[in-house]
Amino acid sequence: MSFKKDYFEIRLESIGGLGANLAGKILGEYGALYLGLNASSFSSYGSEKRGSPVKAYIRYAKENIPIRVNSPVQTPDILGIFHIALADKENVMAGVSENTAVVVNTDKEADEVRDILKMYGGKLYCVDALNIALETKSRVNMVMLGAIAKTNDFMCIEKLEQAIKDTIGKKYPKALEQNLNAIRRGYENVKCKEIKPDDKYDYIVAKDIERAWGYKNAPIGGINPCFGSSISNDISASREGYVPIFIKDKCINCGLCDSTCPDIAFQFVKGEYKGKESMVNLGIDYHHCKGCMRCTQICPTNALEPKLEKDVNIFKQHIRNKDLIVDKLDFEKVGASSFVTSESYKEDTNI
Ligand code: SF4
Ligand code: SF4
Repeated sequence: MSFKKDYFEIRLESIGGLGANLAGKILGEYGALYLGLNASSFSSYGSEKRGSPVKAYIRYAKENIPIRVNSPVQTPDILGIFHIALADKENVMAGVSENTAVVVNTDKEADEVRDILKMYGGKLYCVDALNIALETKSRVNMVMLGAIAKTNDFMCIEKLEQAIKDTIGKKYPKALEQNLNAIRRGYENVKCKEIKPDDKYDYIVAKDIERAWGYKNAPIGGINPCFGSSISNDISASREGYVPIFIKDKCINCGLCDSTCPDIAFQFVKGEYKGKESMVNLGIDYHHCKGCMRCTQICPTNALEPKLEKDVNIFKQHIRNKDLIVDKLDFEKVGASSFVTSESYKEDTNI
């Protein structure tokens, strides 16, 4: 069984940390070695930091048709969206037509997802990949692979499972069972809804993003006011389902979380603890936290608890921190939230 056109193209839209790059590589190998197709795959991403946008492209062609195209997939037959927060990002839904299968990691119903994505038409496949990944102790990418295999009749799930056994199984044998479980659950639990194009949303034409800045047209002084992981940059999509919650009363200000956190998310200021001068932990700046949970593992007093992000209003945590801080740190307001600025963090710890 195969597809009717010369090429069959897949685009995965993700953010660093969810495994889209690996999923793309697996799909490439799977096409070439297990489906008897010609196949190519490559990814494009920025920095290695979790949360940066990642796109993976996979192209299949029938055995007698060589793949001579090596450009990004603009009109995908399958579009995999690894995080619903990517919905409003430019170009994510580009090229989606009534012939596209859109596979989304979401716990929402199809009608709501269509509106979030502003989807023109096609088949919408919704799968709660995050929860399945947590339950099976696997990763979002494995669940998405299973769901992707359900979208057509040539991507055989048994062959995909064999591909996983031969690749991931050899590299990480202890994790094989849970990964196979996640793939099967993705395949069996994905729900499909056909969406007929109507007047609700327009077809989005894929276009290349022009980079506005370069050496010659950088702002005077050469500064970049839109740096990553800044106060204006929502990196909630980079967290894999959990966030640490700071419980002030349990904290002994030992600083282990601060030296462990790779993203300098903790806010320490000069203060007093048990009647002595000390650096005092005020909590977490969630605009910098990528949800790796290392701090919760290192904290000796359980003052940092992992919670499901969907159950926590992150911005309430910021406001709670603000109430604790009194006059030590400066806050800025954006929309309904307020938060600790990284500038005041630096000032206060340089004392
Ligand atoms: S590791 Fe735990 S106890 Fe130590 S400063 Fe951080 S939150 Fe407080
Ligand atoms: S989970 Fe903890 S260690 Fe990881 S980035 Fe967030 S605050 Fe830092």
